[in-house]
Amino acid sequence: MIAGIETGGTKVICAVSQSGDPSEAPATTWIDTTTPDETLGEIRAFLDSHAGSSGLDAVGIASFGPLDVNPESPRFGWVTSTPKAGWRNTDLLAGLKLPAGVPVAVVTDVTGAAIGEQQLGAGTGVEDLAYVTVGTGVGAGIIAGGKPLPVLAHPEVGHLTVRRHPEDEYPGICPFHGDCLEGLTSGPAVAGRWGRPGRDLGADLKREVDISSYYIAQLMATITYTVAPQRIVFGGGVSKTPGLLKAVRVKLAALVGDALDGHDLTATNSGYIVRPGLGDYSGVQGALALARQMSESRTRASLS
Ligand code: ZN
Repeated sequence: MIAGIETGGTKVICAVSQSGDPSEAPATTWIDTTTPDETLGEIRAFLDSHAGSSGLDAVGIASFGPLDVNPESPRFGWVTSTPKAGWRNTDLLAGLKLPAGVPVAVVTDVTGAAIGEQQLGAGTGVEDLAYVTVGTGVGAGIIAGGKPLPVLAHPEVGHLTVRRHPEDEYPGICPFHGDCLEGLTSGPAVAGRWGRPGRDLGADLKREVDISSYYIAQLMATITYTVAPQRIVFGGGVSKTPGLLKAVRVKLAALVGDALDGHDLTATNSGYIVRPGLGDYSGVQGALALARQMSESRTRASLS
């Protein structure tokens, strides 16, 4: 049996697969993210309830960060300097009580989502893919030549500096920078700008879409200029805002059109920026895919 775990800032999704066959729907559960002890204990209980006597063959973890993803590091699998209350310096692997010898892969939640989308979702068949999330936080996972980048650390594109929208006077909410990308476009930033959650904007929705898309298009341009993916999957809670995806496509085309004349993105309906194919399950499916790869390579090794 293999397991995939996505630990998010507000909820955890766990999936287990007895056969490992990606065409079979895994058994899944959702758990609220509370304290590390309680949350990791509930994940462990879910794994125990499915693993039985056969145990676990491999585990993939996609987690919020900052996170130590270097397998050679003594703090591999630790959530490190997070501002999330109670989670600073949490050893996920110890908390999950994974037996020694079970192969474990650890990636960030956005890298997990990129892997999931590439294996089973909107990025199938694409070797160079970016997954951008705008939700509680802002981040990007990048796959180049079929492999997640980088291997030993992870990018923090949420903290990029952006050109300010001329009509936006909101100071931003990033604890480090104020008006970085995440400070201006995350779900909490939208709520802070208008004094109410994004879903309740009413008549202000149009202005918010104009402001948010102005910033998010700059992120898409930066990713396009630096890693030149074939496709960008755009997910996260804020990405579901009505009209936002279309506005981002239009602003991105206007922003880089002349610099990348003839690029797919200059046709705003080209499918260069797409919605996730796996909905809320991109990250956990990516974690499960990592577990599957480890389990298969171990099986191959034992057969040879
Ligand atoms: Zn910041």
